[in-house]
Amino acid sequence: MNSLQQLFSGNNDLRTWLITILDWSLVLLLLYLAYQLIRQTRTVWLIRGFLILLGTFFLSNLLGLTTLNFVLDKILIGVAVTIPVIFQPELRRFLEQLGRGDIFTFLRPDQVLDQADTALEQLIEAVQELSEERTGALIVLEGAPIDERLLQDPGEPMEAILSKSLLLTLFYPKTRLHDGAVIVRDWRIWTASAILPMSGQIPARQLGTRHRAAMGISEQTDALCVVVSEETGSISLAERGKLQRPLSVEQLSELLNRRYRPIVSQPAFNLPAFGNWTRRLFSSASSQPENGSD
Ligand code: ATP
Ligand code: MG
Repeated sequence: MNSLQQLFSGNNDLRTWLITILDWSLVLLLLYLAYQLIRQTRTVWLIRGFLILLGTFFLSNLLGLTTLNFVLDKILIGVAVTIPVIFQPELRRFLEQLGRGDIFTFLRPDQVLDQADTALEQLIEAVQELSEERTGALIVLEGAPIDERLLQDPGEPMEAILSKSLLLTLFYPKTRLHDGAVIVRDWRIWTASAILPMSGQIPARQLGTRHRAAMGISEQTDALCVVVSEETGSISLAERGKLQRPLSVEQLSELLNRRYRPIVSQPAFNLPAFGNWTRRLFSSASSQPENGSD
């Protein structure tokens, strides 16, 4: 204890070193969190573009290319100002997660993988039953967080664990929230009964507003949208404004697994030691009470 006091009161080199190490570790942690956030929302290309601009700016400065340097300087100022606007949904989600303490999930990719696995299974089982019972359903699977301004009505906020029973209950025709779409964010049901933007395209004659809404949201965002038809029980998947239909449950399962499993199961770079370390450090902080061990 005495030596610890000495360490922090004394004006020695060790103290400076420790503070520098702490300082840099916290900066690295911050960068890692930012990287996880960006990677999950798949906006890497935007950051890449920004870094290329920044690199060219420094290079032009070094080589004395004054006009290019001047132009890039102005562009970079413009980009810096627009970044908070472009990333508004991401920043909002980040702050929300920070507030809820969910930020630890960023440090635990294995937990995200478990959540995705379970949620996908539950989703597919629910779609199968909805289709067999011919209950209409519209389920949006977010990529990057959807800007609420795109929605005609954001619906009823839920923040609920995605389960087969909850999906079946939400789309049950006699309930208040059955109309509209369920939006899934971070593998949780974020909102129910949302009204989506309609596509301007006219799909096949037998397809009405539900299918057009699915096409609409997938045109304007990178979300996927699963549709179950009330009239025929057929299953469709909308992606980038196009409907794939009719799909069997197996086909839907294959498409969704192909789309989501690689992203959550293959880190873009391996940080095994760091991953294990953070897992151990945070397992007690964010583990579910029912899971005794990791
Ligand atoms: P189905 O094959 O199930 O009949 P459909 O494509 O023919 O689908 P409609 O019969 O017009 O579409 O389905 C109407 C239902 O679709 C509404 O009751 C509502 O639940 C849902 N819906 C319609 N428009 C939207 C929208 N913009 N956003 C979300 N849900 C919508
Ligand atoms: Mg119809």
